[in-house]
Amino acid sequence: MTSFRADLHCHSTCSDGTFTPAELVAHAVKIGLSGLVITDHDTTEAYPEVFQQASEAGLRMVSGAEFSSTHEQESIHVLGYSYRIDHPAIIALVEKHKQRRHNRNTAILKKLSDAGMPLAPESIENVGHTTGRPHIAKALLEKGYITSIDEAFRTYIGDGKPCHARGEPVTTAHTIESIHQAGGLAVIAHPHLIKRTHIIDSLLALPFDGIECYYARFPPRQEKRWIEIADQKGWIKTGGSDFHGAVKPDNDLGNSWVNEDTFNLLAAHYSRHS
Ligand code: AMP
Ligand code: ZN
Ligand code: FE
Ligand code: FE
Repeated sequence: MTSFRADLHCHSTCSDGTFTPAELVAHAVKIGLSGLVITDHDTTEAYPEVFQQASEAGLRMVSGAEFSSTHEQESIHVLGYSYRIDHPAIIALVEKHKQRRHNRNTAILKKLSDAGMPLAPESIENVGHTTGRPHIAKALLEKGYITSIDEAFRTYIGDGKPCHARGEPVTTAHTIESIHQAGGLAVIAHPHLIKRTHIIDSLLALPFDGIECYYARFPPRQEKRWIEIADQKGWIKTGGSDFHGAVKPDNDLGNSWVNEDTFNLLAAHYSRHS
């Protein structure tokens, strides 16, 4: 029996979480996790600084991020693990997303302004690298245009709603290729959330290395399908909480996790490819 637990999916203030990377590491240690990966949206800004703090605290970490991508017009989140954060392919991917988000946020603010809800661009600036719809929702709330974050997504900026803008897509295939070029592993995040299920067959034909089978918000019976697919393909079965801090308070760090063998697959991959 081992008590090793590693949470492979969480967000810091570098994207839309409310804990700083240092606070995430401290919280992971406090709740008894042995391994952690911070997977901010479209940035690896939390790294490499946290590695030093984690290693002093006896917490194992590998690099990670959750990249936004598009496959056949469906939004697909791709988790990248154990890649070289300073590799040109990753730097280029992060830069592409920075530009995409800047353009997209400008388009969303224009639509909101046209709908009578102007926001100053400074009001959605994030302390970290990645700014997106959660920051816009917060600014709408602070201005009093809406009464809850959920209302912002439901009524204005959720997928397909009147003030939403998609931005230039980055394909899932290109995302996987960039992660591979940087020596990393590419994993399908929360497959349970894919809305247009007819795209799943072609998605599964892409050269992924793993699939996120264990995800706190879904019951075990939903895991079974993805576990079977991973076993068939010889893919790594990953898992994590998708912790965001105070903005999603019912979902704590460590709510989903993997064992030491799975964490070692990620860590060993880095040793072999760096
Ligand atoms: P973006 O990356 O800018 O497209 O924003 C998407 C992010 O918004 C997701 O990763 C979620 O964290 C968050 N999100 C999506 N829908 C909702 C919702 N209904 N309420 C709160 N947050 C949401
Ligand atoms: Zn998020
Ligand atoms: Fe996600
Ligand atoms: Fe996430």
